[in-house]
Amino acid sequence: MERVIGIDLGTTNSVVAYFEQGQPVVIHNAEGSKLTPSVVFYKSPNEVIVGDLAKRNLVLYPKQVIRSVKRFMGARYSELGAKLQGIAYDVVEGPDDSVLIDVGWDRVSPEQVSAEILKKMKSSAEEFFGEPVEQAVITVPAYFNDNQRSATKRAGERAGLNVLRIINEPTAAALAYGIDRNVQQAVVVFDFGGGTTDVTILEIDKDVIEVRSTRGDTFLGGDNIDEILTKFLVERFYADTGVDLAADPVTYQRVREVAEKVKCELSTTVESVASIPFVAVAPNGAPLHLHYAVSREELENLIEPLLPRLIECCRIALDDAKLTRTDIANVLLVGGSTRIPAVAKALAKFFGREPSRILNPDEAVAMGAAIQGSIITGTLREVLLLDVTPLSLGIETEGGLFTPLIPRNSSIPVAVHKQFTTVRDNQTSVKIHVLQGERRIAAENHSLGWFRLTGITPAPKEIPCIDVCFQIDANGFLHVSATEVTSGVSNSITIESFTSVDPEQAERMAAEAQAAAEEDRVFMRRVSLEKQGASLVDEFESLIADNEKPLDPMTVQGLREAIFRFEVAKASKKLDEIERAVDGLQEYARILGDRLLAKRIESLEE
Ligand code: AMP
Repeated sequence: MERVIGIDLGTTNSVVAYFEQGQPVVIHNAEGSKLTPSVVFYKSPNEVIVGDLAKRNLVLYPKQVIRSVKRFMGARYSELGAKLQGIAYDVVEGPDDSVLIDVGWDRVSPEQVSAEILKKMKSSAEEFFGEPVEQAVITVPAYFNDNQRSATKRAGERAGLNVLRIINEPTAAALAYGIDRNVQQAVVVFDFGGGTTDVTILEIDKDVIEVRSTRGDTFLGGDNIDEILTKFLVERFYADTGVDLAADPVTYQRVREVAEKVKCELSTTVESVASIPFVAVAPNGAPLHLHYAVSREELENLIEPLLPRLIECCRIALDDAKLTRTDIANVLLVGGSTRIPAVAKALAKFFGREPSRILNPDEAVAMGAAIQGSIITGTLREVLLLDVTPLSLGIETEGGLFTPLIPRNSSIPVAVHKQFTTVRDNQTSVKIHVLQGERRIAAENHSLGWFRLTGITPAPKEIPCIDVCFQIDANGFLHVSATEVTSGVSNSITIESFTSVDPEQAERMAAEAQAAAEEDRVFMRRVSLEKQGASLVDEFESLIADNEKPLDPMTVQGLREAIFRFEVAKASKKLDEIERAVDGLQEYARILGDRLLAKRIESLEE
């Protein structure tokens, strides 16, 4: 199976993940970081740099370093409006009202810029695996329209990727958080990233994840907090020294970088220090250092005015989805800025429940995309799409009956043992035919495979004990083994695709089985009567052949006639005839004494 990567192509950062051994894993880039800034530096006509290094050139080359290009994906130039806010590079009109970015010697489309970011993500994965990677699932915000989605797909193709699917970021997050898709529920995905806030309400019902509403603020993210804290530091420095650090863009950017660092530290500590040695020079020529302790409380006071905007997004999303706060079963956090304790606290207060924070909020979306990749390629279908068995699993037993071992809708992993025996004397092999379905007639169900257990110790029929085990592991593989208990001989089979039945198909098969219940009942009754009859016939034959205690000729003739009637009835396959013939045999059984043991366990054909 070809490898599939999941890419979260973010406004601020991008992340790439893959799925292995039941887990989504985030891949580090060449710089050793899991987050790659979605920043592209057009350094020269033949040199394009992406990521951390590009970000570091933001201040020096404002016209050539492109950030937040996601805002322009699939957009029309005439409708840009507020999207241009805070953009330092030149956005110009292209053909047919399209958007182009002028980097000096060239005009590039947002798609081309995104393709550069995706190329970087692809190459991080290739370096990690040491081989080419082409298949990808890419995520987009839930509110992206067709144009924006197509532009993202084309960007992927430009980067040399085969884009298997474009999926919604909140859906990916829900997959990563392992939301139980069998439980009908509404969840909120709260994505508070670097540049934007997106609140999405998802409705989950029987494997379908549906976006009920989505509400965003495209100008509210961690960047705003960095800006607020930077201004706070700059003002304080000015008050203390009379030097304005905002006067020089390079210096201002240095303060901003430190502010971001302090902000991030304050998510886990209650105090941090903003420190930049030699940040400026005093009028008297003395070097000036910026060195301020900042407490979490101070930061919380600074960002307090932003919190109502976040909550307002949630309120509107709920209204749009026609839901109330109490309808929400889970609040999932996505985006680096949700690490800020005050944000999680505000959400907890509004929704009346603690948000889920088991995942790394800036990795969840890429992880979900990797999970979706495995679902598409089938690697994960069993675990994620179906964590229960869609149909019963069992084997064919004597007379073409289906004997289930694992009933439908059983949770997996699961292991079940059941004992069987042989049909004939000295039978040394049995066929284990594995099937899936709801009919009692084996031939009406799906055959999944079979194997033969040979080397059974010769013994009279019904004496050997054959233990059949059905085990479904966490990866959704079905292992079937058969062991003869006395000799220990064993054989097995592994079936990897038993769950490749979609839920609808499974429902249909179950409904068909219900409709055919009467047919199945007749079939089972016939098999059971034939079995009883055959067993009596065997007993009678041995009594007839017993020379030591011979039967009287009249009884022998009566038995032969009863046996003959049974064989004829069996050939007719008519239930009433078989019933009568078996009644006839049983009449003789009563005459001959109750020497005939009823079979207690089911037998397997050779
Ligand atoms: P994202 O768009 O999800 O990559 O989020 C990026 C934003 O998350 C940036 O503004 C980061 O500064 C912010 N961020 C990352 N880690 C933290 C943290 N520990 N505390 C606060 N903000 C953070």
